[in-house]
Amino acid sequence: MKILVINCGSSSLKYQLIESKDGSVLAKGLAERIGINDSLLTHNANGEKIKIKKDMKDHKDAIKLVLDALVNSDYGVIKDMSEIDAVGHRVVHGGEYFTSSVLITDDVLKAITDCIELAPLHNPANIEGIKACKQIMPDVPMVAVFDTAFHQTMPDYAYLYPIPYEYYTKYKIRKYGFHGTSHKYVSQRAAEILNKPIESLKIITCHLGNGSSIAAVKNGKSIDTSMGFTPLEGLAMGTRSGSIDPSIISYLMEKENISAEEVVNILNKKSGVYGISGISSDFRDLEDAAFKNSDKRAQLALNVFAYRVKKTIGSYAAAMGGVDVIVFTAGIGENGPEIREFILDGLEFLGFKLDKEKNKVRGEEAIISTADSKVNVMVVPTNEEYMIAKDTEKIVESIK
Ligand code: AMP
Repeated sequence: MKILVINCGSSSLKYQLIESKDGSVLAKGLAERIGINDSLLTHNANGEKIKIKKDMKDHKDAIKLVLDALVNSDYGVIKDMSEIDAVGHRVVHGGEYFTSSVLITDDVLKAITDCIELAPLHNPANIEGIKACKQIMPDVPMVAVFDTAFHQTMPDYAYLYPIPYEYYTKYKIRKYGFHGTSHKYVSQRAAEILNKPIESLKIITCHLGNGSSIAAVKNGKSIDTSMGFTPLEGLAMGTRSGSIDPSIISYLMEKENISAEEVVNILNKKSGVYGISGISSDFRDLEDAAFKNSDKRAQLALNVFAYRVKKTIGSYAAAMGGVDVIVFTAGIGENGPEIREFILDGLEFLGFKLDKEKNKVRGEEAIISTADSKVNVMVVPTNEEYMIAKDTEKIVESIK
């Protein structure tokens, strides 16, 4: 099945056309600056990168341009739009409505719209993408794959915040968790690589990128995760603070004479390793500053980051009553041997020894613990698009 995977941001649209049978990517690309001037489509196919500069006033224009590129006689990969069997949409927030991926119907679209208040920055763009595709390809089945769905198996004592219960019933305030598609993919892939049933494993998945989160995956189900009501909770991230004492918010409002919204903006955009280092949110810059230039604040930022990851791994081993596998994924998790070593240093009591030679791996699947380790530590590059394509294929097959 040829499946078009769509991931819409407010002014961007990422896409991949995937042959779901073998997971091969026929074409992929990015439409940028949608609704802004100088919009640009970058289309990769047949080993070529094509840049198309054309105005895209909205997501519908962007989808049209993507489809034109896919069927283009020079750099296209299909003859006709009818070759696209289904579309899989990444949707950030499914609230408590969705525990798995679903076929998009009017009711589903309404529920995704109801979740806008939980993800005001993300769901509106996802809805734009769905509506645009529905208009242009009305007869093609579409599936929504949610970032939150994989974590809907968390028990109530893990997802409830200890605040008055009525805020949960009235406002749906609870931990939802994000990066679910990634945590699901890498945990399943780790079990496959180890050739063990996932139902028998306790896996801690560390998705460490610009945004970072960790999940405790017991017997194939997420039982806890570090992001919460929003993707601001948990680890220290590129520019996000992660968990802090909530009293800091009112304290800063008073001291700096700023609004709650301004403080939350600082916590989202000016904090994390960027806030501590004052240098960059990018770990390559931080590693250069810390190791080559001995910059103290860059070293501190890396320390704060690694310490939180380490503590969370330890706490999830406690939550699951042990751990069999620790998986690293996403930009830093896949490509940062130094950071991985830094995080794992002191965690050997869990039952592994890091193989420093194997840990040199970047961007490839590997077991980086020694062969005699009881716990397997692994690098598994994430592939959310493939997961979205597979879920879409499964659902579309089931309605045939
Ligand atoms: P992501 O959000 O998954 O794209 O991850 C982005 C983060 O991964 C950035 O902080 C990058 O600095 C980091 N990253 C990407 N490549 C490397 C690398 N080779 N070494 C260390 N960090 C990397």
